[in-house]
Amino acid sequence: MSRSYLIVGGGISGLSTAWFLRQRGHRVTLLEAREEAGGNLRTEHRNGFLIERGPNSTLNNRPALGTLFDGLGITPVEANAASKKRYVLRDGQLHALPMSPGSFIRTPLFSASGKLRLLAEPFIGRAPNEESVAEFVERRLGREFLDWAINPFVSGVYAGDPAQLSARAATAKVYALERDHRSLILGMINRMLFHKHRGGAGPSGKMISFADGMQVLAARLQEVLGEDLQCGVRVDSVQTSAQGWQVRSGERTWEADDLVLSLPAAETAALLAPLDPAFASPLQSIEYPHVASVSLGFARQAIKHPLDGFGFLIPRRTGVETLGVLFPSSIFAGRAPADHCLLTCFIGGALNPELGSLDDDEVKRRVLRDITPLLGISGDPALCSVNRWPRAIPQYSLGHLQRLESLEKIQTRFPGLHLRANWRDGISVADCVQNGHDFAQGQD
Ligand SMILES: Cc1cc2nc3c(=O)[nH]c(=O)nc-3n(C[C@H](O)[C@H](O)[C@H](O)COP(=O)(O)OP(=O)(O)OC[C@H]3O[C@@H](n4cnc5c(N)ncnc54)[C@H](O)[C@@H]3O)c2cc1C
Repeated sequence: MSRSYLIVGGGISGLSTAWFLRQRGHRVTLLEAREEAGGNLRTEHRNGFLIERGPNSTLNNRPALGTLFDGLGITPVEANAASKKRYVLRDGQLHALPMSPGSFIRTPLFSASGKLRLLAEPFIGRAPNEESVAEFVERRLGREFLDWAINPFVSGVYAGDPAQLSARAATAKVYALERDHRSLILGMINRMLFHKHRGGAGPSGKMISFADGMQVLAARLQEVLGEDLQCGVRVDSVQTSAQGWQVRSGERTWEADDLVLSLPAAETAALLAPLDPAFASPLQSIEYPHVASVSLGFARQAIKHPLDGFGFLIPRRTGVETLGVLFPSSIFAGRAPADHCLLTCFIGGALNPELGSLDDDEVKRRVLRDITPLLGISGDPALCSVNRWPRAIPQYSLGHLQRLESLEKIQTRFPGLHLRANWRDGISVADCVQNGHDFAQGQD
């Protein structure tokens, strides 16, 4: 039966939820505060460089992405094969993360005892209580893996603190290996054999973007949704009504059977607390650290490093402030003019709250101070774009899943109310699209 839905928030969560609901024959009205839809998906074209202010790419590992791209008639571009290589900083040097058993044995990234420690992993039992990512990884793989592999990965994805993030919520796929296979190593072997056996069917798991950047996805959704999407509408209150739900923005009101909030946690709390104050606490406990992405364009000859990879991650143990650096012009074509290259650096995060008090010039200075010796940079950048995200990525901290459960309990008192955004069920663009799809599939 066709129903009507009001969706608030036109980031990728709200846009894909609207599109998949429409595909199932429902009527949608999507309201977005900014003049342009897309939320975090923001691409800037400047002086021949293509700068991603937010996500640079997403992993094509969720089937709903393909359905959406086909339906929209857009074709993604895959990351260059050479960009599979990822570097990690240790002892002042960038080391390639090992991709094969042979390179693992040879890599100086882990000591001989750190490597031998892995042999014990299949024999380690499960923990009785919820663990942080740091506790989980140290228990299973040892301290070295935590410091030099997992910690930088967590910085790269969440800009987070592994001691605060919940293993079950933030690294759900890794956690599932222990739950389903008793061991991460046995679980990975099992998965590799399973995928080989399936002959590579299903999503490729490659990093993807679009020739003109990630915002292409949002722009195309905006175009296809047409009048069902209204931009420049900041919703300031929501309430139940005879039909189901009513939302208000200034003097204007909209009504529908169902209401979907696809908003950051704090904005969701602000709209729902007047309905029931119990909504506020679990939503307000979801923290978002401040992150800046600093894109720097250089003449190619100004950098000695071959830039032959995806980028590099900087473990917190090194004491270096910058979290990591992507090499966008090595990953996708068309990110920099001829004979130039583009770097995107991240700084800030849960372990560096000082960022909010620094101005853009100081942020740029600190990033250049950190990366200049590592990449062998000479001379000034030809381009610099500092993009601040005062509330960047929701942290799936200890207790996150309990917070979601308590929200679901409160929601049962409000039929037709749905909460769909990146603070639950995955933060990647691919996760948000998949969640929009799965939600729509469940609506009859
Ligand atoms: C710097 C950065 C880098 C990232 N890199 C990657 C990456 O490389 N790969 C990847 O897969 N993911 C990455 N992510 C994560 C990913 O971009 C996000 O998780 C995802 O885009 C979130 O989408 P969303 O729709 O849930 O939320 P948002 O994009 O935050 O959208 C929420 C929308 O709600 C609107 N809104 C807010 N209040 C109101 C209101 N009252 N009324 C109406 N509208 C309102 C906002 O304007 C916004 O458009 C990155 C994120 C950041 C910040």
